[in-house]
Amino acid sequence: MDATAPVTVTITGAGGQIGYALLFRIAAGDMLGSDQPVRLRLLEIPQGMRAAEGAALELQDCAFPLLRDVEVTDDAAVAFAGADRALLVGSRPRAAGMERSDLLAANAGIFAPQGAAIAANAAADVRVLTVGNPANTNALIAAAAADGVPADRFSALTRLDHDRAVGQLAAALGVGPAQLQGVTIWGNHSATQFPDVAHATVDGAPVPVALAEKLGADAVAAWLDDVFIPRVARRGAEIIEVRGSSSVASAANAAIAHVRDEALGTTGSRWTSAALVSQGQYGVPEGLVCSFPVTSDGSGYRVVEGLALDDRARTRLDTSVAELVAERDAVRELGAI
Ligand code: NDP
Repeated sequence: MDATAPVTVTITGAGGQIGYALLFRIAAGDMLGSDQPVRLRLLEIPQGMRAAEGAALELQDCAFPLLRDVEVTDDAAVAFAGADRALLVGSRPRAAGMERSDLLAANAGIFAPQGAAIAANAAADVRVLTVGNPANTNALIAAAAADGVPADRFSALTRLDHDRAVGQLAAALGVGPAQLQGVTIWGNHSATQFPDVAHATVDGAPVPVALAEKLGADAVAAWLDDVFIPRVARRGAEIIEVRGSSSVASAANAAIAHVRDEALGTTGSRWTSAALVSQGQYGVPEGLVCSFPVTSDGSGYRVVEGLALDDRARTRLDTSVAELVAERDAVRELGAI
């Protein structure tokens, strides 16, 4: 694409908290580069329109050089018209006492029409990131409804889990995050996710060895199972407990990093984590939206293949995949896919 032609970015739930943390950074060039003009399309439900309109006024007041125009709408066909990138943020949160099937049904009612609107209106090479939870299954629903759009254009956010894992490891080893490579989040963006350090390195040396030096060889397995994995998987709840409200800036930062690396490429041998539509890699049933180690050359994410999984890793991945299968079967029963 001509570097000066604006890229159209559609954000759903743009009047919400994560939307508010995303819009200004996208307009500033943090997501697609400091020389890439953008057009923003903000989709909201009628109750969210005033908040999105207010954010649009503030965007104007920032006079961002890269921001060509902003449109706020509650019509999905208008919001996705010509979209090159879509970030599906708005979703139905889990209310107290809500069954999982009710949550999936409510979100199917949001993500199936949005998938159809993307197929009918977006640019031919559109790429879609789902942030709204349950993100993996919402992406599955949108992809299934987007007739004619290849499934590999859809992904779901596990970058926040990935970055949380890097942050925890960096603190434990007393190093900077940039010294770490090869961390992976496998599975669902949920408490069953598997943050994996078996292939990770710190300044090129294996992380398991560095952990053994730091904690003692006998203590590593227990630290991984009882401290690291639960802390990463339950970090969202920890943030709510400490901050009194959910993670917003870090979620928006992760969404920006996900799209930036997909669009501009991951560097060198560095990989990150993203949930992609499985083509059967690592034994994950085809069609499930599962988190894998991924790289991009700028043309889209691809799964890093050929990593060895020991029995412990296999069991953890299988547990998370079983949850994804159950979510898929539940939306199938609802007729949503
Ligand atoms: P947020 O902006 O805080 O969150 C939006 C979604 O992102 C939620 O589903 C949330 O899931 C999810 N999410 C993913 N990762 C994280 C994370 N690490 N931390 C927190 N949230 C995460 O919600 P708001 O209620 O402020 O805003 C939602 C907006 O979406 C509202 O303005 C609403 O009107 C709009 N909306 C728009 C729709 C549409 O455009 N068709 C449809 C439905 C809603 P979780 O709930 O699990 O925290």
